[in-house]
Amino acid sequence: MRQYGILAYPAAHSRSPLMHNAAFKAMNIDAYYGVFEKKPEELEAFMREVLERPIDGLSVSLPYKESILKYLDQVEPAVQKIGAVNTVVNKEGKLYGFNTDWIGSNRALIEVVGDLTEKIVVILGAGGAARAVAYGALLAGAHVWIKNRTKEKADAIAVEFAEFFSTQIHSVPLGEMRTGDILINTTSGWTNGMEDWKEEMIADYINLDYLANYQAVMDIVYTPLITPLLETASEIGVNIITGDKMLLYQACEQFKLWTGEDAPLEVMSKALEAV
Ligand code: NAP
Repeated sequence: MRQYGILAYPAAHSRSPLMHNAAFKAMNIDAYYGVFEKKPEELEAFMREVLERPIDGLSVSLPYKESILKYLDQVEPAVQKIGAVNTVVNKEGKLYGFNTDWIGSNRALIEVVGDLTEKIVVILGAGGAARAVAYGALLAGAHVWIKNRTKEKADAIAVEFAEFFSTQIHSVPLGEMRTGDILINTTSGWTNGMEDWKEEMIADYINLDYLANYQAVMDIVYTPLITPLLETASEIGVNIITGDKMLLYQACEQFKLWTGEDAPLEVMSKALEAV
């Protein structure tokens, strides 16, 4: 039986096992997807275990998307640019790193707004996920404005990515408002619970009066599924895209990397909905 799993800390609440185990079952693949909740000091030993057992593939989540790089034999060009890995394939004892987050976010966006060419995408946040989302948007021909609490991180992404793409990427200071076609929240700090939500929390990022100008608003945070930002957008009639879509589509790409087969989208989607 082939072994796969999610490497993260914490990892207990991950939805990935449900999706991937349902997919293996539906496709009659003799494989099991487990949870590898490892503390940072356990990472080195765990990566030895991946080769020794062996474990055939990993989904990689916080906080290991960057620190896992040094254990890999080879990474795809997208990983080199994004600087983060969310998928590992163990092929005959060699570890290969991929990033499927950008594919997931592009697919989630395109199914609602269509072609991204020349669209203006405003990204809130500049962590690992923002880098993947920005990479995907630029690759699809969009222009990107990126805003972050720690502006230096947004500046760094803008400078790095401007070298690779012909479309524009700029960082925007907090407090300065830009309208665009698509607004994407990738910050993790606002949405822990609806009870905590206050509009002032995002006042520096987005003037809510501007929301109506957007064609769509996506929040990649999926707990809760309808975040306060999405609820506000939905109330004024703007298309919303929930974070489970990116999660689903990036998982479908992982499945394909591990098995060589197209993922059973409906099965995985139903497994995710059942959570
Ligand atoms: P990360 O690298 O830790 O980045 C976190 C981002 O959130 C940074 O921009 C950080 O700003 C910002 N932030 C955190 N707390 C904040 C606060 N209180 N106020 C304002 N900004 C705050 O994390 P990540 O990997 O980018 O992931 C971000 C979120 O996306 C997580 O919730 C993760 O679960 C989710 N995610 C979803 C998917 C999906 O498939 N749907 C995929 C990947 C990630 P600073 O730079 O100023 O610290």
